Parts: sequence; structure tokens; C-alpha cells
Amino acid sequence: MVRFENVCKRYGNLVVLDDLNLEIARGEKVAIIGPSGSGKTTVLRMLMTLERIDGGVIWVDGEPMTHMMRSGQMVPAAQKHLRRVRSKIGMVFQHFNLFPHMTALQNCIEAPITVLKMSRKEAEARATELLDMVGLADKKGHYPAQLSGGQQQRVAIARALAMRPKVMLFDEVTSALDPELVGEVLHVIRQLGAEHDLTMLMVTHQMGFAKEFADRVCFFYQGKIAEQGVPQELFGAPKNERTKQFLRAVL
Ligand code: ATP
Repeated sequence: MVRFENVCKRYGNLVVLDDLNLEIARGEKVAIIGPSGSGKTTVLRMLMTLERIDGGVIWVDGEPMTHMMRSGQMVPAAQKHLRRVRSKIGMVFQHFNLFPHMTALQNCIEAPITVLKMSRKEAEARATELLDMVGLADKKGHYPAQLSGGQQQRVAIARALAMRPKVMLFDEVTSALDPELVGEVLHVIRQLGAEHDLTMLMVTHQMGFAKEFADRVCFFYQGKIAEQGVPQELFGAPKNERTKQFLRAVL
């Protein structure tokens, strides 16, 4: 569903992703862990095309996202192509990024109406269903400032899902929350994980959740995957010295 093929990303002299190869199957749930600055968020930002790629190709749903074919040659993708492929991906950020002047419902219908050209009625029906799914049916008329951090984050998840993505990206979605609000957000993500078709990629500092939720855990170190495997193996019997050091420090 998603494939990074020899992907490189630099900021000046700093190599942030170093010849990265990563393949994620349809429906697979992958957690990315690793020390600060190891390139975890950059992986998600590149998938959202928030960053320019310096080398390699990113594939989404069988199509090169960052490139397109022209006269039999692979060339850097045009904006229109990027936008079309990117529409298959939804992202939830650490900070909820909701529109403050819109209610929970309005936040969830804006893009489906303007981008997907859904009728208001259809968009409202879908948004109501999604807000119900994240446990906020009674809060759809509330503005972000009237909601707790956990509730805002659940609206952000519903908003991303309203665009019917095939891939969902989560970037440290619980880091900005008070500890007692973390559980409700993880509960929603856990529920989503039961949807077998949805591919999920999550950067997280919640090792316990990664262990329970992910089919595979990738440990990043200096822009590369230093080790990856099923959670039981990676957490239970890490092989790489860097992974061992990291887990000793965080567990
Ligand atoms: P954290 O766990 O702290 O969020 P991370 O593993 O997600 O870290 P990234 O955010 O992917 O790390 O950043 C990787 C490296 O790239 C860091 O050294 C960071 O300082 C650098 N970096 C990120 N964005 C930029 C930018 N726009 N300009 C210059 N350097 C950047």
C-alpha cells in the first residue's frame, strides 16, 4: 500500500532519511519508534508531501506518488498528481490543528464538501456517523475551545476519516495530552485498527500501545531503520545494540 524506495531527505548537510526502504502492506498497522531527531516525523511529512524528496520514490496504492510517467520516463510529479495521490492519505498531528472558528461538525464537513464535492447533507450524515464513532455525538455543535484536548484529538481523527483515506498517519497524537486523556484517544485508534482495510502508520512514544496495537514496529536511528519486527520480538528480544539502548532508556 505504501512503499519508500531508496528515499533520501536532507536539510543542508544534515541527512535526515538515508536511503530508506520501507514497505507497508494494505491493512497493516505499523508503529515507528526511535530517539528524537531520528527522522520519524519526516517519514510522515514526506507521505503528506509536506516536504520535498531529495532521492528515491514513494509509492502509494501502486502509484509513484512523488513521480509520474512522461514519455516513458519517470519525472518529478506535478502538483495535481501529488494532490490526487495524497488524497488517499489522512493525517492526525500532535497538535489537533482544528479550525477554531468551526464546530466539531463543521470541521468534519469542510473538506468533504470543498474537496470531494460531497453534498452538505451527505457530508453531515457521514460526519455525524464518524463523530458518533469517536464518542462525540453529543458534542458536534461545540467549538474546539469548548472541548478537552482528548475530545479535540478525537474530532481531528473523525475529520481525517471523513475524507475516506486508505492510509492513516498518526504523529505522536497523544504527546500533547494530559495523561488521563491519553486512553480515550488510544481507544479510538484501537477501534480503527480493527478495520482490516485501513493501513495505519503511527509515530509514537507510547511503547505499551505500540506493543499492543502494531503488527510491526520499526526502530529508527539516524534516518534508517536499525531494526524492525513484530512487537513481541522487537520489545522482548531486540537484536540491535541501538534498539537495546533506546528501550532501556524509555521502558
Ligand atoms: P522527535 O521524536 O523529536 O519528534 P523525529 O525522529 O520525529 O524527532 P524529525 O522531526 O523527523 O525527527 O527530524 C529529523 C531531523 O531533521 C532533526 O534533526 C530535525 O532537527 C531536522 N529537521 C526537521 N525539519 C527540519 C527543517 N524544516 N529544517 C531543518 N532541519 C529539520
